[in-house]
Amino acid sequence: MAGVTDVHVHIQPFEMLKQEILESMRREKQDFDFLVRISKNPTTFLALLDEVGVERACLINYVAPEVMGYTDKVNDYVVAYAKANRERLIPFGSIHPTLTSNPNEAIRVLIRDDRIGGIKIHPPHQLVDANAYTDGTMPALRRLYEEAEDARIPVMIHTGTSIFPGARAKFGNPLAADDVAVDFPRLRIILAHGGRPFWCEEAFFLVRRHPNVYLDVSSIPPKRLLSYFPRLEEIADKALFGSDWPGPGVPGIAANLKAFRALPISNAAKSKILEQNAANIFG
Ligand SMILES: [Zn+2]
Repeated sequence: MAGVTDVHVHIQPFEMLKQEILESMRREKQDFDFLVRISKNPTTFLALLDEVGVERACLINYVAPEVMGYTDKVNDYVVAYAKANRERLIPFGSIHPTLTSNPNEAIRVLIRDDRIGGIKIHPPHQLVDANAYTDGTMPALRRLYEEAEDARIPVMIHTGTSIFPGARAKFGNPLAADDVAVDFPRLRIILAHGGRPFWCEEAFFLVRRHPNVYLDVSSIPPKRLLSYFPRLEEIADKALFGSDWPGPGVPGIAANLKAFRALPISNAAKSKILEQNAANIFG
């Protein structure tokens, strides 16, 4: 029996963040020093996972120099971090389709050499649409999807809004992922946050329409999950548990797990969303 997977945790190099983002995090998080310690020490994080009863976590990182400050070095960071226990820590990295220098080489290293566990695309922070390759202007984005499809590496696309300074919400519409799913039918796509708060119907449609499109429920307060997705049970085979911890407003992995387990849906659906679906995707 597979354990719980949290498919959306932000273990990140804080020193890379832009000053104003760092300050806003420091203001919001009372346990900020603990978060910094965890970001430097995978053993501390693994102990936390043990404590809250989580088997595996996806460590979400992406290149977004303009809005967040993250450069291509996030990839080296997360790959090195996950080496502490590659069974339980699944590194997610990325390139930026226009700002990464020599993107084709960076894609090759990420996918072939580093064996990254997943690719993260964050349109509202990277300031590009997830389907920006369709008009021919961003060939690196097309290449990234092609290589990921070929290597059977899932791609997570942030959908929905973001409240970080400088983030642009217009890039968060999940419908851009429809092109990706049509053009790369074997690519497994995870719509992070299910388009919340106002594109949930679009996300739900894509999950039902495309065999390889999934969504994660992260950053939606579990108590309110069924008001965002009243038909969650119908997509129980395609939904994944994620916390988005320590993102803004997320109380903690344990609190989110507890609230999710209390939802009035079947135990079979819960077990798929918490355990089985992720085990199928991440093996
Ligand atoms: Zn996130």
